Amino acid sequence: MRIIHRLDEMTETARGWAAVGTVGFVPTMGFLHEGHMSLVEAARRECEISAASIFVNPLQFATGAEFAAYPRDTVRDLQLLDSAGVDVVFLPDKEEMFPANFSAYVIPSGPVAERLEAAAAPQYMRGVATVLVKLFQLVRPDIAYFGQKDAQQVALVRQIVRDLNMDIRVHVLPTLRERDGLALSNHNRVLSPVERQTAPAIYQALLAGKTLIDKGEMRAARIEQAMRRHLAHAPEINVDYIDICHPATFRPLKRAAPGTLLVIAARIGSARLVDNIVWTEDDNWVL
Ligand code: AMP
Repeated sequence: MRIIHRLDEMTETARGWAAVGTVGFVPTMGFLHEGHMSLVEAARRECEISAASIFVNPLQFATGAEFAAYPRDTVRDLQLLDSAGVDVVFLPDKEEMFPANFSAYVIPSGPVAERLEAAAAPQYMRGVATVLVKLFQLVRPDIAYFGQKDAQQVALVRQIVRDLNMDIRVHVLPTLRERDGLALSNHNRVLSPVERQTAPAIYQALLAGKTLIDKGEMRAARIEQAMRRHLAHAPEINVDYIDICHPATFRPLKRAAPGTLLVIAARIGSARLVDNIVWTEDDNWVL
């Protein structure tokens, strides 16, 4: 496994890949868990060359303190990636990625860049969009892998790739969950034992929404109400938002139909958890 820090070395390496075969790329912020590793394994399986990046993106945090508090364990991450058989790990320097004179931000617009996660943190979408465009330019992947867990990021990436004519396929893998349904996330580690016990209620609320749809209730307001009622049983959970929207555009929907995302963001103690399920256009559920 080759570890690359410098941007010019990454560019040079990616240039050499063009003749070798397809390149699969998994961008991450590190502190890897099985959810991240499922993306890495897909890249390994489906591509001749696999690359992962570890970069805690300073642009997407509201404050320097939040950026500093993000968990890091590069030694362990590199062990995991090495055992998974990744070809290249890109670990760029913050100063080289975003020098003091950096100014060419990518500023997306529309519901996907303005609602829900974006409304909670205005810098977030611009930060994600900018860093991903830079990483794509440096690594030049044929396929980029993302987790459905971050549904709004998935919609944003698809939008960027389409709007900027990037020659990249986006592969999205289902959310990996604990046995009790809680989505794997770096935020779970700050949950107290009691909070950890309560946390699966978020996924159960999403499933309560699905149950209602399965019974034929298509009115979004009713479905949202059912999900909210479910979470009301857990007083430790403070809901940021519950939303029913289109998974690609993030436009709110009045009625559910194939092509509907149910999404919840909630705070439990000091953790902020986000989860979703999707009723796909081809009438399947991604749970
Ligand atoms: P992050 O390091 O949090 O930016 O995540 C890197 C990638 O891993 C993103 O595409 C996430 O959507 C994905 N990811 C995070 N958690 C999970 C999970 N529980 N299951 C599947 N993918 C995940």
